[in-house]
Amino acid sequence: MNIPKTSFPRVVIIGGGFAGLAAVKGLKNQEIQVVLIDKNNYHTFQPLLYQVATGGLEPDSVAYPLRKVMKNLPNFYFRLAEVSKVDTEKRKIHTNIGKLKYDYLIIAAGSTTNYFGNTNIEKYSMAMKDVPQSLNLRSLIIENFEDALLTKDLEQRNALMNFVIVGGGPTGVELAGALAEMKKGILPNDYPDLDIRQMQINIVQGSNRLLKAMSEKASEKAEDFLIELGVNVWKNTHVTNYNGYNVETNTELSFEASTLIWAAGVKGATIGGLGQECVIERAARIRVDEFNAVKTHKNVFAIGDIACMETSHYPKGHPMMAQPAMQQGKQLAKNIIAQLENKPMIPYAYKSKGSMATIGRNKAVVDLKKIRFQGVFAWFVWMFVHLLSLIGFRNKAVVFFNWVYNYIRFDRETRLIIRPFKKKNKESF
Ligand SMILES: Cc1cc2nc3c(=O)[nH]c(=O)nc-3n(C[C@H](O)[C@H](O)[C@H](O)COP(=O)(O)OP(=O)(O)OC[C@H]3O[C@@H](n4cnc5c(N)ncnc54)[C@H](O)[C@@H]3O)c2cc1C
Repeated sequence: MNIPKTSFPRVVIIGGGFAGLAAVKGLKNQEIQVVLIDKNNYHTFQPLLYQVATGGLEPDSVAYPLRKVMKNLPNFYFRLAEVSKVDTEKRKIHTNIGKLKYDYLIIAAGSTTNYFGNTNIEKYSMAMKDVPQSLNLRSLIIENFEDALLTKDLEQRNALMNFVIVGGGPTGVELAGALAEMKKGILPNDYPDLDIRQMQINIVQGSNRLLKAMSEKASEKAEDFLIELGVNVWKNTHVTNYNGYNVETNTELSFEASTLIWAAGVKGATIGGLGQECVIERAARIRVDEFNAVKTHKNVFAIGDIACMETSHYPKGHPMMAQPAMQQGKQLAKNIIAQLENKPMIPYAYKSKGSMATIGRNKAVVDLKKIRFQGVFAWFVWMFVHLLSLIGFRNKAVVFFNWVYNYIRFDRETRLIIRPFKKKNKESF
């Protein structure tokens, strides 16, 4: 991999997401060699991917070059590579560009979509976990309307304009709201010769309320906002099968829809070699102790979505969100430095700052520690927090400009098919 040999201990970090980058920042200015490895050469700001998918933002405003993060940091190296497994005995990682030895290993590879073993849904549905998937979804949404305009088959036209979103967490809710706004403000102008009123947006949630991780008030309000925007909300319903056209559920409910967006589950990314005892089967997350150390391998750590720290407060691990990922990365960097200085490590404790979701223009829900609010103010708070959290001045400025422009003009200008997406079953129905 052409990483120079050094007398400094080498910390290898797999993944330049929220957790990995927090660790990178925390290890600056130390007598440590840091090697960051990621399969992409950019960091992805996942919370805004739904805006890429619905034409509100360009993909490059939610992505940031990892080499730029490492710029001017002596002893910091980046390699574009996919890690397949860890050899804990030889203290090496295996990647598609070779092997690399580590003194300390930080696994921060995040999560991937969980289809819970349903291969049909995996094959035919759309996911939205990364930039390419969001671009695929953007293309498909627009292609559907182009196709709907051409077909004379009414059933097919309705299916092309029928969108089913599975999962009523923040991703599902935000995407449903954004699609509803496209239906209201953009599609009727773009397709004056198509009856856009026929477009249906359905959100299907397995439990009895949306945004289950938030307060009941936030759930209620989010549902009200969605209904106000014309979204059909189906609760206590599980999607059980999809063949690219027919959506089956565990109730009488079924849909004919060309697009099913799966936002109903995530599981840890796959990094092999750790042994079954280290990985929690149901969520594919790596079991760690209070210092984020992988049990039985004390110089191997896992942070962020991929890590599962079971505590009395969080028996299933911390929520798979940006806050715990960043906090764990920061804390672990301090603990590695402490270890090298023979000082005691400090156990990680999650400090939740609250959660929020936006449903559309002037519509958001915010749960902070002591105060909960919804509506216009919540929407401004949501925008402010997301703007601040974006990496890089350019991205902040571009997103801010886009939001102001979209707000004033009621527009989403990046509704472009740059890279056409061919759905697997497109020809067969
Ligand atoms: C659509 C969407 C919306 C979200 N909205 C919110 C929100 O509003 N608020 C919130 O708090 N959280 C939100 N989240 C969750 C949040 O983004 C994650 O919890 C957070 O990204 C986890 O950080 P991480 O560093 O663990 O993983 P990630 O940020 O996913 O980073 C993992 C990195 O590892 C790399 N990688 C993976 N496998 C390999 C490999 N084998 N080899 C090399 N590199 C690899 C990836 O390329 C990636 O760069 C959202 C997630 C999604 C998908």
